[in-house]
Amino acid sequence: LAAPADLTDLFHQGLSTDPEAVALFALDGAVTWQELDAACTRLALRYLSLGLEPGDRVASIMPNRAVLVIHYLACMRAGLVAMPLNYRYTASDIDYALRLATPAALLVHAERAKDVAAVPAIAELPVSMMAYAGEVNGALDFDDLLNGAGEGTLPDVDAEAPAFIFFTSGTTGKPKGVTHSHASMGYMVASNAQGLGLGSEDVVLPASWISHTAGLRLTFAGLWVGARTNIARRFTPDELLGLLRQTRPTVAQILPAPLAALVTGHGAVREDFGSLKSMMAGGDKPSQTLVDAFSALAGVPIGAFYGMTEMGTSHSNIQGGPDKVGSVGLNNPGYISVLRDEAGAEVPVGVDGRHWIKSPTMMTEYWKNPEATAAAFQEGWFDTGDLMRRDEDGYFWFRGRRKQIIVHDGSNISPAEVEDALTAHPAVAAAVAVGIRDEMHGEDVWAFVSLAEDSKLVRAGEIIDFARERIGYKAPDVVRIMATLPLTIGGKLDRMALKRLAADESGAAHVQ
Ligand code: ATP
Ligand code: MG
Repeated sequence: LAAPADLTDLFHQGLSTDPEAVALFALDGAVTWQELDAACTRLALRYLSLGLEPGDRVASIMPNRAVLVIHYLACMRAGLVAMPLNYRYTASDIDYALRLATPAALLVHAERAKDVAAVPAIAELPVSMMAYAGEVNGALDFDDLLNGAGEGTLPDVDAEAPAFIFFTSGTTGKPKGVTHSHASMGYMVASNAQGLGLGSEDVVLPASWISHTAGLRLTFAGLWVGARTNIARRFTPDELLGLLRQTRPTVAQILPAPLAALVTGHGAVREDFGSLKSMMAGGDKPSQTLVDAFSALAGVPIGAFYGMTEMGTSHSNIQGGPDKVGSVGLNNPGYISVLRDEAGAEVPVGVDGRHWIKSPTMMTEYWKNPEATAAAFQEGWFDTGDLMRRDEDGYFWFRGRRKQIIVHDGSNISPAEVEDALTAHPAVAAAVAVGIRDEMHGEDVWAFVSLAEDSKLVRAGEIIDFARERIGYKAPDVVRIMATLPLTIGGKLDRMALKRLAADESGAAHVQ
């Protein structure tokens, strides 16, 4: 892996090559390299002159905007620790995150200022508020900060010092605060850029939240190589189509759910995807239906990536060929993966193993959570909690999270395998399988499915029979058809909500 990106000087290449070219683009405006540089330094100096000190955390509750990128880079230059919260966090999510990481300041979009002001932690902790895009009582105006002149000098920043605290998606429990140093973040950016083969001629479209690592690392990777980088403000089909048509991206990255929305019935045509070298989908498993629909529409396969907040994009499958569709591909530069059995021995090809990883991109720790940090590391390896298998060509296949493995009559069933069998049915657009406690079998397999828009009506029994033909005893015992499957605020299929639903329903059935 090449030298890491230096976050304080992330975009020196673009700045020194063509300072007046557009660095960041959103449908509502563009920022040149020169403007970006001046704004970042000004804002960094303003932050310091407000009394913020290197090492202080600065939280943000912001939707995707170019100014959010400026804010992050200003924090890096000032030695402040950026702490992005998801824009859709509820009051209790915000309260939890603020108490955990006690930021000195909080940048909030005016639209959410009222909700935020009512969060108990705001009254109890010394947090100064900065408001973006509207006046808010008691808050500094972010535009004034951004546009005022900055004075003083920027500090030297230690590469091992914390740069970011990100929150995990909270798919399996309460989100954890993940601490990344300037160095680990810099490696993450460099690996992402190298893995995708990015160059300054590329046009990058990270169509996901830049408050989470997946969207942010690609944004930074684009800036680092001097490529024009787009900020998708929303991930609606309309916004995405607008960006595809107007900016002609060469590399895009997206979660499966918004990609599925884009390919079904919103007027996208093959030409809209014509500029793409790769469309990377990851963070959650794209269904077979989506993979097929995308390649039929766009004429190119979906690339896959796998990664996590703790260490970035460890795997990608850019052009694996037809027999590798559904695989997350090979390790990216700077990552080593091993697959181990429960006793710690490496598993052979084709067998599910616990996925452990080593990389200079690794987080420093879970913020203020030494127990979780200690539990995550084994003999210097990070235990991802995921199961994977490797094929004879070395390609990795994601098999599910260990915690979500279903134990039915003493055998382990991977939800991914059940979901693949279900989405192979032409009428099924997406599926989630969960294990529900059952006295006879240990756990029963329950599945929730949504149907493809243009599909004919189909009964649950027919879907179960279809799955049984493919995967035998692993087929779901119960299938529920829903209009749409619920998503987490991180945009992934909400397995916990569905599991609760199934548990309630099966509990109720037992009582009757
Ligand atoms: P939490 O850790 O709070 O439960 P989370 O694990 O969903 O939430 P993230 O760091 O955003 O938080 O997501 C990483 C996880 O997402 C991985 O551990 C893996 O389980 C899943 N994931 C990532 N990429 C893929 C993919 N391509 N296919 C299937 N699952 C994926
Ligand atoms: Mg996780």
